[in-house]
Amino acid sequence: MDQDSGELPPPNAGKTAASWARVRARLRQEVGDVEYRNWLRQMTLGGVDGEAVLISLPTRFLRDWVRDHYGDRLRLMCQAEMAGIRTVELRVQAVGVAARAPVESEAEDAAPLGESLMVAPAPAAPPMTAASEPVRNDWLVPLDQRFTFDTFVVGKPNEFAHACARRVAESPAQAGFNPLFLYGGVGLGKTHLMHSIAWSLREQEPDLSVAYMSAEKFMYRFIAALRSHNTMEFKTQLRSVHVLMVDDLQFLIGKDNTQEEFFHTFNALIDAGKQIIISADKAPNDLSGIEDRLRTRLSGGIVADLHATTYELRLSILQAKAHNSGVEVPARVQELLARKIASNVRDLEGALNRLVAHAKLFGRPITLDTVPEVLSDILRAHDKRLSIDDIQRKVAEHYNIRLTEMASARRARAVARPRQVAMYLAKQLTSRSLPEIGRRFGNRDHTTVLHAVNKITELMAGDPSFAEDVTLLRKMLEM
Ligand code: ADP
Ligand code: MG
Repeated sequence: MDQDSGELPPPNAGKTAASWARVRARLRQEVGDVEYRNWLRQMTLGGVDGEAVLISLPTRFLRDWVRDHYGDRLRLMCQAEMAGIRTVELRVQAVGVAARAPVESEAEDAAPLGESLMVAPAPAAPPMTAASEPVRNDWLVPLDQRFTFDTFVVGKPNEFAHACARRVAESPAQAGFNPLFLYGGVGLGKTHLMHSIAWSLREQEPDLSVAYMSAEKFMYRFIAALRSHNTMEFKTQLRSVHVLMVDDLQFLIGKDNTQEEFFHTFNALIDAGKQIIISADKAPNDLSGIEDRLRTRLSGGIVADLHATTYELRLSILQAKAHNSGVEVPARVQELLARKIASNVRDLEGALNRLVAHAKLFGRPITLDTVPEVLSDILRAHDKRLSIDDIQRKVAEHYNIRLTEMASARRARAVARPRQVAMYLAKQLTSRSLPEIGRRFGNRDHTTVLHAVNKITELMAGDPSFAEDVTLLRKMLEM
C-alpha cells in the first residue's frame, strides 16, 4: 500500500489517522507536555506499509533520539492502537515551513488529552450541594510546576498583563479586574500567567477552589453532559468554584450551544462575586463569531494584551532559563537564538532544551557550531526567508559592482570574487541547494558554487580582514 502514489487516500486512512492521534495523545500523557513538545511533537505519520507504521522526523538527531528513548513505547502503543501493526519505522524527512505551520501546533496544543485541569477544592472548601458529586478525578490534573510568577520574566511587551495577573492573584474578584481577559499570540505566556495566578491563590488562600480548563475541554465536558443528560451536574460543579479560568476561548467560536452555556456560567459566577480569567488569541472586539452580549461581558473587566516579544525580552528569558539548565550556555549562543527564534517563547525554550539535552547526552559543550547542527529544523522554520536576490543585491552594492555581474560570464577578479561571496552567503543563509544557487547565478554548475563556497571559506580562514568583511555583510543581511 503506497500512500504517495495516488491522489485519493486509501479507504482506511481516516482510521489510521485517528489511531495515530490516539498514539500521540497517549504518549503525550505518559511523557508529559515538556518532553512531548521537545522530542515528539514533530513526528508525522507517513503511512502504513504492511505491518509497519512509517513515521518521519525532520532531522537525524531527532530521529535517533526518538528511536533510542521512545522507540519501544512507541511501538507498543502503535501495536495497541493500530490493528495489524508489528513494527515502527522511523525516517528522516525534512519538512518545509508549511508542514510545521503554527496552525498544526496550535491545534495540537489546544486539543491535548487531559491538558485541562481542575484544581480540587481544598479540603476546607464548603461542601458542594447535595445534588452534585465531588469533582471527578479525571478533572484533576496538577498545575504545571514551571508556570509560576517566579519563573515569568517581565519585560515591556508583557508588563501590563503581568501586573494585572498579579493584582488578580492578590485580590481576586475586585471591581475593575473581573473578568481578567488576557490575549496575545501563541506561546507568549498566557497559560503561564494563568497557572501562576492559580499557584499563587492556592498558596495564599488554600480555601478557594480554582478551576482551570481549556475552552475545548469546557466544550467537551458540556457535550458529554448533554449526551448523558447530566447538565445539572455540570452546571453545579462549575458554579461552585471561586475562580474559573478558561484558556484559549477562541475555540468556542461558532459552537453555539457551548457558547450559550458558557455565557450563563460566566454570568452566574460574576453575579456571585467569583473571579473569571479568560485567555484568547485576540481581543474581545476582534473575536469574530461570538455573540455581542458575550463580547460585551468579556470586555467588562480588564483586557490586557501580551505583545510580541522583543529581542531584549527573549534574551532575558533565555538567560533565566539557561541559568537553571545546569549547562553553560555561552552568551553568543543565547544572542543567536534570541535573534533567530523571534516568533514565540515556546519555540525558543524548546530550542534551548534541546541544546542542553544534546550537551548532556554527548558531554560536549554548547558552542556556536553545535547550534545549526542540533537545531537545523527549528532554525529553518524561523528562517527569515532571505532570498538569493536580496543577497545578490546587497553584495553587489557592497563591492560597488553592477547587479547584472552576478549572472554574467565575466571572470575578472573584481566581479568574480564578489560573485563568489554572494554564492557563499546564499549557501549559508538560505536553504537552497547548490544546483538551485548555480542556476540563479547565470546558470552555473553546482560544482562552481561548491568551489566558490570552499574558496571563500579558505580565504576567510587566511585573511582576517576579508573574513570580517564577509561577516559584516552577513550580519547586515541577517538584520
Ligand atoms: P500561550 O499560552 O500564550 O500560548 P504559554 O504560556 O504556554 O503561551 O508559554 C509558552 C512557553 O513559553 C511556556 O513554556 C512558558 O513558560 C514560556 N514563556 C512565555 N512567556 C514567558 C516569560 N515571559 N517568561 C518565562 N517563560 C515564558
Ligand atoms: Mg496557552
